[in-house]
Amino acid sequence: MPLITATGLTKRYGRSETLRGASADLRAGEILAVTGASGSGKSTLLRCLAGIVRPDEGAVAYGSERLDRLPEARLSELRRTDFGVMFQFGQLIPELTVLDNVALPLLLAGTARAEAQQRADAWLERFGVRGQAEMRPGELSGGQSQRAALARALNTEPKAVFADEPTGALDSLAGEQVMTALVHACRESGTAVLLITHDAQIAAYADREVWLRDGAVHCGATRFTVQEATRHEV
Ligand code: ADP
Ligand code: MG
Repeated sequence: MPLITATGLTKRYGRSETLRGASADLRAGEILAVTGASGSGKSTLLRCLAGIVRPDEGAVAYGSERLDRLPEARLSELRRTDFGVMFQFGQLIPELTVLDNVALPLLLAGTARAEAQQRADAWLERFGVRGQAEMRPGELSGGQSQRAALARALNTEPKAVFADEPTGALDSLAGEQVMTALVHACRESGTAVLLITHDAQIAAYADREVWLRDGAVHCGATRFTVQEATRHEV
């Protein structure tokens, strides 16, 4: 079952056409890797599927809603409640403690402070960064910072996580720790993941892989069906 279906997306920045008729779907509960050369439009595709960027042409369907047509207020609500995002770096707010960073999406969604912090604390513990809860993001290692960012993305129990090169700034051990945490947590909760990566070892965590070339999506291998994949241990 597709969770999000993008059809014929075109996105232009000035005279350059970043997406040219790109189509892709993200199925419920799957981990989809998106690969492609630098500048091929991966981040733009992710932003269109996550309702961050509006395509110039084409449709992005999420359930009965069209993300490409929704008013900004509804898009921003969906981004808070249904979608989680992770980037390569810089997504944690430097002035807040790690715990407050992770609690923030829930606070914005109206959850009481004590509960938001309690849930944040549980994620930090699960991802091995509870000891860093009272620190500022600047005091964390790259891997700790990404595990905290993952905790923040998951704290609202989203339907989908959009991860744009989440291990791109990490060494391979820290990258594996982040991916293991991401994959286990999302398998358990049935959260779909759209994972952009340059790294074949990271893409190997996915159920399915598509690649972008010149703004269009080319189908790659299906590694497992989603049903099989839920039994697949990493
Ligand atoms: P990738 O993630 O595959 O490296 P991007 O989607 O980030 O590719 O971008 C592809 C191209 O689209 C960039 O090289 C740039 O020319 C253009 N682009 C993307 N985002 C913007 C933007 N916000 N403003 C202007 N140009 C952009
Ligand atoms: Mg990118």
